[in-house]
Amino acid sequence: MGTSLEDLLKRWRVVFPRRRSVAWRGSWLSNGYCSDCRLCCGPQEETEPFPMKLLPHQLGPNLAQDFYLLDAETACLDNRGCRACTDHGCRLQRGRRPVACGLFPFVLNGNALLLYQRCPASLFTPLSRLESVGRKAAHWLSGFSTRDRAHIALNLPVAVLADRYIDLHIRVH
Ligand code: SF4
Ligand code: SF4
Repeated sequence: MGTSLEDLLKRWRVVFPRRRSVAWRGSWLSNGYCSDCRLCCGPQEETEPFPMKLLPHQLGPNLAQDFYLLDAETACLDNRGCRACTDHGCRLQRGRRPVACGLFPFVLNGNALLLYQRCPASLFTPLSRLESVGRKAAHWLSGFSTRDRAHIALNLPVAVLADRYIDLHIRVH
């Protein structure tokens, strides 16, 4: 059993007494909460690793130095966290990070862009603002080839979706 949403909310209220900015920057989401959070880069409570597919141009022989890998093209987060995470944040240039990292707290599941509700940005940012940011992210994703989009999309179990994600009804076509 992981930390409850209520306990996380209590923790985040102490760490983040003021709202921080969340904005779409053309190809990645700028999230003012990340520097004091790192929830989604550090060790995970879930027993199932969180897969982060890499695009073909990101593949190479030294991937295992940057990521824990599920297979030759899939980085993952698990109870060790992410291999690229340091005390000062991610050590990889943006172009080398999985697409998923630049979208979070949004995740592409099938063709739906869903919001991870345990992120402080999700909890403290007005949903109307998040919806606006999410629609810009969806527009950016719509520029990917159908094949690349299908490659990076998750297929999360229904129980996980119900427990951890908010559907703002943003679809990527
Ligand atoms: S959970 Fe949200 S605020 Fe925390 S590191 Fe991830 S994206 Fe940033
Ligand atoms: S690649 Fe960087 S941003 Fe992505 S999960 Fe790892 S540490 Fe976090």
